[in-house]
Amino acid sequence: METKRIQGSQYARSLIEASLDPLFTISPEGKITDINNASISITEVTREKLIGTNFFDYFTEPDKAREIYKQVFAEGFVADFPLTIRDGKLTDVLFNGSVYKDEYGKVIGVVVVARDITDHKRIEAELVEAKEHAERATKIAQVAKIKAEKATQIAENAVISKQQFLSNMSHEIRTPMNSIIGFTKVMLKTSLTAKQKEYLTAIKMSGEVLTVLVNDILDLAKVDAGKMIFEQKAFKMDASISAMIHLFEPKIQEKNLQLIKKYDPKIPKVLVGDPVRLHQILINLVSNAVKFTIQGKITVGVRLLNSDEDKVSVEFTITDTGIGIAEDKIEYIFQNFQQATSNTSRLYGGTGLGLAIAKQLAEQQGGTISVKSKIAKGTTFSVVLPFKKTRGNVESVTEIKEADLKIKGLKVLVVEDIALNQLLMKTLLDDFGFDCELAGNGKIAIEKLKSKPFDIVLMDLHMPEMNGFDASRYIRENIDSQIPIIALTADVTTTDLKKCKAVGMNDYISKPIDENLLYSKIIDLLKKPGLINDDDLPVISAKCTDLTYLINRTKSNPQLMMDMIALYLEQTPPLIGSMKQSLLDKDWDSLYAAVHKIIPSFHIMGIHNDFEGIAKKVQEYASKQQQHDELQQWVLQLENVCSRACIELEEEYNLIKKQTDERKENITFSC
Ligand code: ADP
Repeated sequence: METKRIQGSQYARSLIEASLDPLFTISPEGKITDINNASISITEVTREKLIGTNFFDYFTEPDKAREIYKQVFAEGFVADFPLTIRDGKLTDVLFNGSVYKDEYGKVIGVVVVARDITDHKRIEAELVEAKEHAERATKIAQVAKIKAEKATQIAENAVISKQQFLSNMSHEIRTPMNSIIGFTKVMLKTSLTAKQKEYLTAIKMSGEVLTVLVNDILDLAKVDAGKMIFEQKAFKMDASISAMIHLFEPKIQEKNLQLIKKYDPKIPKVLVGDPVRLHQILINLVSNAVKFTIQGKITVGVRLLNSDEDKVSVEFTITDTGIGIAEDKIEYIFQNFQQATSNTSRLYGGTGLGLAIAKQLAEQQGGTISVKSKIAKGTTFSVVLPFKKTRGNVESVTEIKEADLKIKGLKVLVVEDIALNQLLMKTLLDDFGFDCELAGNGKIAIEKLKSKPFDIVLMDLHMPEMNGFDASRYIRENIDSQIPIIALTADVTTTDLKKCKAVGMNDYISKPIDENLLYSKIIDLLKKPGLINDDDLPVISAKCTDLTYLINRTKSNPQLMMDMIALYLEQTPPLIGSMKQSLLDKDWDSLYAAVHKIIPSFHIMGIHNDFEGIAKKVQEYASKQQQHDELQQWVLQLENVCSRACIELEEEYNLIKKQTDERKENITFSC
């Protein structure tokens, strides 16, 4: 019995000591009757001193402890009641207690475990602090986001306002500019002394450069986005550079500088590229050289860098003996509105836009621009640009053909509201030997067309009372006249051209009017009228095919090239026919099949990707067996480009054949 009691007591002791939290047994009177070691270490009071003392006195709030203690007696237990032990550290605990009874069920005391929650509390406090931190950070981030959004909005608004301003201003500048260029061209056709002709040519060139520049400023966003359209036309490089240099002669003389031209005779006489953009780049560089040079000389060097069968690479260097550019500023000068020093604008003028535009113009043509400079020694800008070679002669591209001039006495109705432009058109048409009648708006034009016959109408687009679009639609639909109509437009946008086509206009010409182009458009239309094709929209290349891919694939093997071209010429016309017919019949499967066969040829024959895109759209609707408003127009565009490709490729075929035959003859001869 005694052994059992001892065992029971040892068992109870080990249970008590197993708790790492302080454990007390307390009599109904609140006196401590037993404790474990954890209680001793937390209170730092010995067992002897603790036993028999008042349990409640060990808490910072004895009354609360007493209340809880009573609650244990009343309810039999209490769980997780928070209290603080009055020890050196004021340990926070959770008070858990339950009564214990004797063998007769009488409550003889309470067992209390006070769980130390210091760490728990610390972690909780840290978590709260971390949460507050996170909330503060989120708030800061939100404020920053709102600020950034506001800044973006302000920046976007600024860009829109800038574009609006530039658009308005450049439109205002462009109208008088068109007259200046137009009348200069008219004057150039009168009898002039050599000097007068030179000066007028210089005025015309400056006007053209200014017009291009105004257009560029208008499209600054376009420039930045790299969406500029480049012409591909044949021009005489040497003459073009001389004319450009000529512009600077007065300034050079005024500043007592020397201007030297070094031109490489190996450069082919006629090249294909964009001469106006080339001028724009060089004028920017030479005018900077003149501007930033006080004494010494400016050298314009033009050198053939590379040449292969169909293209060349030309380097233009503009070297001056001017003020130079500091090394740390060089990387900035090609950025928009950047000048090398803060007082540049005050001392030399300028906006810091010229080099940015020159860089864009060079790079978007596949060229480069670079600079080397030394303060007080001088600067060299170098531009490398690619040009295509041509077999044609430049005269054939730009001059009016004598034979055509025999066509006289055409009756032309010019519909134009601006008096200066009216006068300019009249002068040009008089010069062609045509009869010109003027109408100030669409309404007047319609009255005139009703009252007497005309051969052709030149129609401005934006006019008061009745604009060019409405007038053209009226002419086609109400008067039911098929008279050729050429749109005169100051701002060639794709949207305007689509509208022109939609109302039944036949062609367009952009202002300032190029008289040769106007003449040839009038003659062409009267010879073979037809609606404006979408391939007339501005395109980068004058040709719609480019045989680079084919040449590379066939490794310039003429027989292989001819076979491929012959295959295209054989297969394409029936495919176009099938495409058109199946659209008419709404035979979607055949339409799909025809377009599917045409698509790979675009890439092989170097036809612009846009057409592949159009073909894929047709294919998409055909596969969905779905009609679409624009299907007919897309198919027409594909037909037009493929027909043009056939004409061009037939010419290429004949040319390759001729060259191959000649080569064979030579070989036979030498044998
Ligand atoms: P702008 O000439 O209108 O200021 P640019 O973009 O043409 O703008 O040139 C940017 C800056 O580059 C000029 O302001 C000038 O500081 C520097 N710069 C350009 N060309 C020369 C040069 N030939 N010699 C010295 N500094 C030049």
